[in-house]
Order: sequence, then C-alpha cells, then structure tokens
Amino acid sequence: MNIIQSIAEMQAFSETARMQGKKIAFVPTMGFLHAGHLFLIRHGRSLADVLVVSIFVNPIQFGPAEDFNRYPRDWDRDVQLCKSGGVDVIFSPKAEEMYPESFQTEVSVPLLSKNLCGISRPGHFQGVATVVVKLFNCTKPHVAIFGEKDFQQLAVIKRLVQDLNFDIQIIGIPTIREADGLAMSSRNTYLTEQERRSAASLSQALFKAQELFQNGERDARVLIQAAETIITRQKNASVDYIKICDIQTLQDVNTIAQPAVMALAVKIGTARLIDNVVLKE
Ligand code: AMP
Repeated sequence: MNIIQSIAEMQAFSETARMQGKKIAFVPTMGFLHAGHLFLIRHGRSLADVLVVSIFVNPIQFGPAEDFNRYPRDWDRDVQLCKSGGVDVIFSPKAEEMYPESFQTEVSVPLLSKNLCGISRPGHFQGVATVVVKLFNCTKPHVAIFGEKDFQQLAVIKRLVQDLNFDIQIIGIPTIREADGLAMSSRNTYLTEQERRSAASLSQALFKAQELFQNGERDARVLIQAAETIITRQKNASVDYIKICDIQTLQDVNTIAQPAVMALAVKIGTARLIDNVVLKE
C-alpha cells in the first residue's frame, strides 16, 4: 500500500494507472475509520483495479465554532484498516498544499445546500463541494463512493458531477448501523456512555416514522411529530431539525406524494449527529 501526501505525486500515480488501462475507485474520508467507511472501501475494492482512499480532515467545511480541532484522528489505526481492506493508496494531502494562501476558488451548489444542514452549517456544503472537486482532480477516479448517511452531501456531489460534467460515476452506499440502530459515525466517539444510549433514539425515531409511512401515513407533520416525541424523551438530546424533504430537490414537503427523505440532526452532549431514512412505497 502506498501513502501519498503530495498532490503532484497523487496525480502522477493516477495518470500512470489510467495509461495502463486501469480503473480507479475513490473513497474520500476524514479518517478515524469505522465499519461504515470499511463498507465503502470493500465496495470500491470490488469495482476497480486501483483503490484510492483519501484521509483529509477538510478545514473549510467546518464553521468557526465547530469541531475541526477536536475531530477524532488515529492515523496508525486508519493505515492498518486500509491495509487490511486492500486499499492501494492512502492519499493524505497537507492542508497547506490543498489551501495555499492564494487559494480563492469556491464550488457551490446553492439550492441543494440551502435546507437541512445548510441552515445551521452555513458554508459547509460549499466546503464539501470544493474539496471533493479538488480530490477528484488529484485522484482522477472513474468511480467514487459515498455514504447515504450524509444524504444531502451525496445529493450535492451528484449534482455537481452532472453540472460540471465530471466523467465520474457516483455510487451511494446505504447507512451502516450499530446493533441498536445508531448510524456509525466518527463523531460517535464524542458520546459518553449515557449519551451513547440516548443516541439510539435517532434511528428509533426514523424507523418509527418509516413504519407509520408504511402503514399509510402521508402527513409530514404527523411523522415529524412522532419522531420528535421519541427523541425529546431523552433529556440530553436537543433537536436541530427533523424534516421531510423531496428526495430530488431537498425542499420540505407537507404531504408525501413522491419519494421523500426524513432527515434529522440532533445534538447529544457535544456531538451533533445526523441520520436519515428514505420514505417511498
Ligand atoms: P467521513 O469520514 O465522515 O467524511 O465519511 C466518509 C464517507 O463515509 C462519506 O461518504 C460518508 O457518507 C460515509 N459514511 C460515514 N458513515 C457512514 C455509515 N455509517 N454508513 C455508510 N457510509 C458512511
């Protein structure tokens, strides 16, 4: 397994692989890998000749009051997990090379970035879109794999790939969960034992709404109320949002007539956790 930090070296590696007719799969991550990431890695491995995983905690997608500095990191463990996952290259660029002082370009997907996490994290999706475009240009993949756990992020990336004509196939992978339903996330490590128990309420709320939907309920307010009741039973949980949106536009819907997504963000202790389920017949 190669570990590459330099952007020029990464580009040269991918260019050579392409010249040799090899297919490149790419899995972008911020490290502190868990079973969700490993699922993406396994899928990438099965799709291509060369598998590149990036580990980069992207400073420009964090707001000034967010957790960039304390975001969990464990380089040695990540390297071991990548090795055993059959990764060919870990690309871990330096922030100084990604964002030199002269850097000023922004990639923005304004409509899809507006709702949901875009409300409480202004600038977040612009930071994500910008880094993903940069990482694509560094790693030159044929296919890139993302988690549906970050539903809005995936929608933003699919949109920008279409809009900017990137010749890259984007694949979304269903959310990998702990035994009690909690979506795996590097941020789960912020939770104390008690908070960890409360955190199970997020997926319980989503699954309850999904069950009501399957039983015929189409009023978004009723589903949101049912979900909120389950989460607010936890004293240490504070809801940022629980919304039901059209799956294509991510605009709020009142009555579910088309496939929709119920998405939520909840703060438990110091961890802001997100999750979602798709509501469709
Ligand atoms: P992150 O390191 O949190 O930026 O995530 C890197 C990639 O892994 C993103 O595409 C995420 O959507 C995906 N991912 C994170 N958690 C999960 C999960 N529990 N199940 C599936 N994919 C995930």
